[in-house]
Amino acid sequence: MSLAGYTIDSIRAGLLAKKFSSEELAREALAFAEAENPKTNAYLTLAPERALSAAKAVDAKIAAGEDPGALAGVPIGVKDVIVTRGLRTTCGSRLLANYVPPYDATAVIRLERAGGVIVGKTNCDEFAMGSSNENSAFGPVRNPVALDRVPGGSSGGSAAVVAQGTAVLSLGSDTGGSIRQPASFCGVAGVTPTYGRVSRYGLTAFASSLDHIGPFARTVRDSARLLQVIAGRDEMDSTSAFAPVPDYVAALDGNVRGKKLGLPKQFFEGLSSETGDLIMRAVEELKKLGCEVLDVDLPHTQYAVACYYVIATAEASSNLARFDGIRYTARASSAGTLSEMYRMTRGEGFGAECKRRIMLGTYVLSTGYYDAYYLKAQRVRALVARDYARALEQVDAVVGPVSPFPAFKIGELVDDPVAMYLSDIYTITGDLAGIPCMSVPCGKTREGLPVGLQIFTRHFHEAEMFRLAEAYERATAS
Ligand code: GLN
Repeated sequence: MSLAGYTIDSIRAGLLAKKFSSEELAREALAFAEAENPKTNAYLTLAPERALSAAKAVDAKIAAGEDPGALAGVPIGVKDVIVTRGLRTTCGSRLLANYVPPYDATAVIRLERAGGVIVGKTNCDEFAMGSSNENSAFGPVRNPVALDRVPGGSSGGSAAVVAQGTAVLSLGSDTGGSIRQPASFCGVAGVTPTYGRVSRYGLTAFASSLDHIGPFARTVRDSARLLQVIAGRDEMDSTSAFAPVPDYVAALDGNVRGKKLGLPKQFFEGLSSETGDLIMRAVEELKKLGCEVLDVDLPHTQYAVACYYVIATAEASSNLARFDGIRYTARASSAGTLSEMYRMTRGEGFGAECKRRIMLGTYVLSTGYYDAYYLKAQRVRALVARDYARALEQVDAVVGPVSPFPAFKIGELVDDPVAMYLSDIYTITGDLAGIPCMSVPCGKTREGLPVGLQIFTRHFHEAEMFRLAEAYERATAS
C-alpha cells in the first residue's frame, strides 16, 4: 500500500486512535518498498529488522501512555551516504559495496530517538557526485513520475521513495543542489538548511565546506517537522551551529502579507519556457497572497558553476583519499606491492565521475595552480555570498527556479558532463553562500513533469522560508 496519503500528523493521529499500529505501518511500508523497488531501484538496502524493532518500540511507548516522539511510527528513507550502525552503507560506490558502519550519524540517531522508523537506505550518485543518479555503481534510479526519466541527483533515491510513497520522509545530502534538484524533478519538498544547522557527523564527506544534510517530504509542514528533529548543535561536529532552533511549525500560519520577494534576473535567462511560465505563475500566486515582488541582482551567478567545480573537486580529492583499500573499503587482491594495491583498489573501485573529480581537484590544488584556480574560486565564492547578502537586505526571500529544465531522460546527458553540471546553475549559489533554500512543487509541464519553485532566505531564517513555501502550498492545494 502506498504511503503517499500519510503525513506525520495523520500517522500520529492514527496511532493514538489505534486505527493501526506502528508495526503494521512499518510492515506495509516494507512490503510496498519491496514491490515497487524493481521499478525504480530507489532503495539499495531495506532494513526490515531495524524498522520493525523501532516500530515495536513506538507501539510499546504508546501502550505505556508515554510520548512516542515527534516522528512516531513515520517510515523514513536515508540516503546511502549517511552512515547507519550495522546497516550497509555504500555511498553508491563499488568500493563500499559491503561496508557496514560501526556507528550512526547524528541525524539518524535524532530521528530514531524521535520515533522515526528507518525503512532502508536510498540509492544515490557515487559519493553524492552527480545530478541524475546515473553515477551510482548499483544502477540508476528511475523517476517514479516518469520511469524513463532521471529522478535528479545526487539524492535521487531519497526523492523517489517519498514521491512513490514507500516512505513518508527521507534524508538527503546537498553540496551543490542534490536535495532541491531531485525534489523538483520528483515533485516533493526538499530542504537545504543553513550550513551548520544540521550536524554532518556520519555524513560521508564530499566537499566539507559545502555539505549539508536535509529533509525530503511530501508537504512543507512535514519537511519543517523533520528539520526540527535533526537540527541543532552537536558535540560530534564542530561545524554545527550553536544558534537555537526555533519552532518551525509555529511559523506556518499562511500569512505572508507584506513579505518582499526578490526575483534575480540572472535566474530567468536560459530557462526552458515551460519552467519559466510555471515559476512566474507561482510568483503571481504569492503576489495574490500579499507579497511584494522586486527585481534583485545576483551578478556573479554566471561564475557559480565554475567556482563550485573548483572548490568541490578540490575538497573531494582530499576527502576521497581515505578510500584506499586499507581502511573501509574492498581491497584489490592481486596487487604485489603497497602502491600497486592503492592504485588497483582505487582504479577498480571508483567510477568515472569520481575519478574525473579527483583528477580535477588534485590539479587545482597543485603548486602553481593553487593561486590561479583554488584561491580565485574562493574569492568568487565570497562574491556570490555577497550578492545574496545584499539582495537579502532588500527582500525577505529570493525566489526562482530550481533547475533550468524538468527531469531529463535516462542517458540523455551522460556523455556531456558539462551540460549535466549546468543543470545545477540555480542551486549551487545557495550552497556557496551557505544560506537556507528549498524546493517546493509548483506544478507540472504539459508532459506531466514536476517543477519546483526555489526559495532562499537569510542564514538561519528557515522559519521564514517554510512560512512562504507553506503559504504557497496551502493557496494552491487542489
Ligand atoms: N550535482 C552537483 C555535483 O555533482 C551537486 C551534488 C551534490 O549536491 N551532492 O557536484
